[in-house]
Amino acid sequence: AIELKNVKKSYISGDLETQVLKGIDIVLEKGDFIVILGPSGSGKTTFLNIISGLDKATSGDVFVLGSNLSLLKDSHLTKFRRKNVGFIFQQYNLLTNLTAKENAEVGENLSTNKNENFSIEKIFETIGMTDQLNKYPHQMSGGQQQRVSIARALTKNPSILFADEPTGALDEEMGRKVLEILVKINREFKTTMIVVTHNPNIAKIGHTIIHIKNGLIDELTHNANPADPSTIDWS
Ligand code: ATP
Repeated sequence: AIELKNVKKSYISGDLETQVLKGIDIVLEKGDFIVILGPSGSGKTTFLNIISGLDKATSGDVFVLGSNLSLLKDSHLTKFRRKNVGFIFQQYNLLTNLTAKENAEVGENLSTNKNENFSIEKIFETIGMTDQLNKYPHQMSGGQQQRVSIARALTKNPSILFADEPTGALDEEMGRKVLEILVKINREFKTTMIVVTHNPNIAKIGHTIIHIKNGLIDELTHNANPADPSTIDWS
């Protein structure tokens, strides 16, 4: 589903060029639960942004779902994102004046690829939020708000769900619940999951773990026994 060939990314500010990704080669399978693990500044978010079509590589090929994202014009990249991928961020980015249900519907309205199989109600059932449909963000905990942002991403029936430090703003109990839901979505909907974390314990929930260090893949682990989120040592 995803193949990167010698992908490099540099940021230029003024006269200074910083190479952040230094030649990434990898093939990732459809339906996998993939974790990108690495220390702060190692290039995880940059890597995620490039495979999700949020940003472009400086050089190299990025094949995702049959398109070479490196060759797409910006407008086609936007179309690609709208149709195929969902995003979850550390901050939930909900609209404060909309209810949970209305926030999820924003995802549906933005989509060209609505989830025909699952209504908003069904999605809220999956994420355990049926009783929160009409609540406003300020009436919900951080974990509940993050679950609404997951619902918003799911309404478009994405082939791939990208999550950048999805539990970064949550405490242990709420964080575990969010990870459990990501595992459930991957299992039930077969959505390819790509999660960024700096926490090696959280990374253990992945089936494939990409260790990034200084802009290169340091190690690729195939995890035969992914951890159950409820057993993770959070410290
Ligand atoms: P963190 O866990 O701290 O978010 P990360 O592993 O996700 O880190 P990136 O956010 O990909 O790392 O950043 C990698 C490096 O690239 C950092 O040194 C960062 O300062 C630099 N960088 C990221 N985005 C830009 C940008 N838009 N312009 C210039 N430099 C950037």
